[in-house]
Amino acid sequence: MLVSVTEMLKKAKEGKYAVGQFNINNLEWTKAILLTAQECNSPVILGVSEGAGKYMTGFKTVVNMVKGMLEGLNITVPVAIHLDHGTYEGALSAIEAGFSSIMFDGSHYPIEENIAKTKELVALANPKGISVEAEVGSIGGEEDGVVGAGEVADPAECKMIADLGVDILAAGIGNIHGKYPANWQGLNFEALEKISEATHPMPLVLHGGTGIPGDMIKRAISLGVSKINVNTECQLSFAAAVRKYVEAGKDLEGKGFDPRKLLAPGVEAIKETVKEKMELFGSVGKA
Ligand SMILES: [Zn+2]
Repeated sequence: MLVSVTEMLKKAKEGKYAVGQFNINNLEWTKAILLTAQECNSPVILGVSEGAGKYMTGFKTVVNMVKGMLEGLNITVPVAIHLDHGTYEGALSAIEAGFSSIMFDGSHYPIEENIAKTKELVALANPKGISVEAEVGSIGGEEDGVVGAGEVADPAECKMIADLGVDILAAGIGNIHGKYPANWQGLNFEALEKISEATHPMPLVLHGGTGIPGDMIKRAISLGVSKINVNTECQLSFAAAVRKYVEAGKDLEGKGFDPRKLLAPGVEAIKETVKEKMELFGSVGKA
């Protein structure tokens, strides 16, 4: 069932759990995530970056592929197709293509411009029932060419953006994209608490979910985080599983070169990672 994130995250915030956003790259990725969500009876958010959208030949292809799978795989749990770190133009085309949710990443603009553009997108998305995620305080690391220094968001700015009618808010609290460096300071819970208080009852989003220790994830959820983005971790487990298959020479045995066989261990690995995350986030059985 294709839905926006509004209801599922409102429920998550009230129930003190988080819904995972898992980024997709192709058919195998999407299928693995949808099947796991159904198996776990969990709501799920499919994240699509602009780069991944391009790779999959456009947002229309993504929407049609996901809709086809919801039908073909009998997926009945709530599923959102969410634009991840959208530019203003990217957000417009995702709305046009039929995404059920968009993120506008205006964190690199001065706050006035972030506000103006976020407002415009909310006005376009809301009447169509499309949810909007805004971002304050850039998130560290690199994602699809967007480089953030890993700021800690200002609670007053968070409140300003939250009041624009957005559905969810991503606020930097020391989290970064990709693998965390060995000397990482951890999440800034003091900042999270202040942001959570200032923006209540807005569900908050934690980007860069790969490699954050489980106890920090749980604490973040208890402080109002209702959506956690996972991307790199699925990529790492997929790559490791396919590598193992090839290194064992299985592609050279019989019809082991068949792409459906070659990629199967990768699909299973994504399913395992997604399941682990859904258990950690507490979204199992919450569809
Ligand atoms: Zn992100």
